[in-house]
Amino acid sequence: MTMTLDLASPATRPAVPPRVMPGGAVSPAAAEKPSLIGLSREGLGDALRSVDVPGKQVRMRTAQLWHWLYVRGAEDFGQMANVARDLRDRLDASFAIERPEIVEEQISVDGTRKWLFRFPARGAGRPVEIETVYIPEEGRGTLCVSSQVGCTLTCTFCHTGTQRLVRNLEPSEIVGQILAARSRLGDFPDAATPAGAIVPSEGRLVSNVVMMGMGEPLYNFDNVKQALAVASDGEGVSLSKRRITLSTSGVVPMIPRTGEEMGVMLAISLHAVRDDLRDVLVPINKKYPLEELLAACRAYPGLSNARRITFEYVMLKGINDSLADARELVRLLKGIPAKINLIPFNPWPGTAYECSDWDQIERFADHVNQAGYASPIRTPRGRDIFAACGQLKSESERMKKSERLAAAS
Ligand code: SAH
Ligand code: SF4
Repeated sequence: MTMTLDLASPATRPAVPPRVMPGGAVSPAAAEKPSLIGLSREGLGDALRSVDVPGKQVRMRTAQLWHWLYVRGAEDFGQMANVARDLRDRLDASFAIERPEIVEEQISVDGTRKWLFRFPARGAGRPVEIETVYIPEEGRGTLCVSSQVGCTLTCTFCHTGTQRLVRNLEPSEIVGQILAARSRLGDFPDAATPAGAIVPSEGRLVSNVVMMGMGEPLYNFDNVKQALAVASDGEGVSLSKRRITLSTSGVVPMIPRTGEEMGVMLAISLHAVRDDLRDVLVPINKKYPLEELLAACRAYPGLSNARRITFEYVMLKGINDSLADARELVRLLKGIPAKINLIPFNPWPGTAYECSDWDQIERFADHVNQAGYASPIRTPRGRDIFAACGQLKSESERMKKSERLAAAS
């Protein structure tokens, strides 16, 4: 069952008018102007110089903009009360700070929310749509963010894997998902809060971010890195890197750089303990087999008992859920500070896989647990609105060659 908006709930204080509107219009203005969202401080400084802000003022103006965008959640230059009117107008003429358009919002009976966000066309491309999911839990709220439109990989149990890659998301579009979700949930200080107020990280509705939406984040490394640097900046959105988790299917060459350059928590989509099976379930395994993947995990910068790697393991009936698999899993991970997330398979139309029986999942979990690993069984969230792991997909398709040529001419 799918609920529409519950406007009575305090968590839903709408910052934009409520709407569930399949096929809304795109704002053409936003499509033409480059976005200031997701830029580094240097990038923001360059943008300010380009609208003739004197060199001496650039640092101060950068700090002001950063505060308005990431602490106050400003969606309009007009809100930036301590920025001179004339500068606001110049910025507005050259740059955008719009969030993605909310094309559709669905709320599950368990409180999970899924948004279909639309980003304006870039260059000769079309507008693209992606999904972002918010999962409220006791004491925390996790936002599941997308890194690509579609995915180049074709993991056989994943719905996103059936959608071809359309394009990588830009830093503005990755950070834009976080800002849009926080606005929509009422997670920025309201207008009555004195200027300068920082929202404490305790009690925030979006307290954690997981790069587990559509796409393979390590195939969009630079943009994801820049976006996460903005999200974890202590003077802005201010999410601790310990509350940001990046999940990869196993792009081994980028794993050391993820630790060194991003410093966020790592999750590995393991799903199989033998190369022959992993080759089928997670085909990138043919390129980077288990031995290489686990060696990269063992060497992950910053790894310790306090900073463990999460191994995700989807429970597929009769495929990877035997106790022999559980034993091999324990053997493989020996010596790696790890937590094992058992994910009951979330079905989608057309899939041939089934979720393991609950008893079997529990037996598997017990075995792993007795070997000393935390092995929580992830409660499926938002299945009724197709928001659970691996169920995300959007209708965005890559342009055909003839369309690209026509658009470019
Ligand atoms: N591309 C990245 C991140 C996105 S997928 C990755 O593969 O890690 C997020 C998690 O959901 C991954 O662990 C993925 O393997 C898992 N997943 C995909 N399809 C699923 C499904 N149908 N049921 C349960 N988990 C699924
Ligand atoms: Fe892509 Fe991850 Fe899905 Fe595999 S599981 S197809 S890498 S999104």
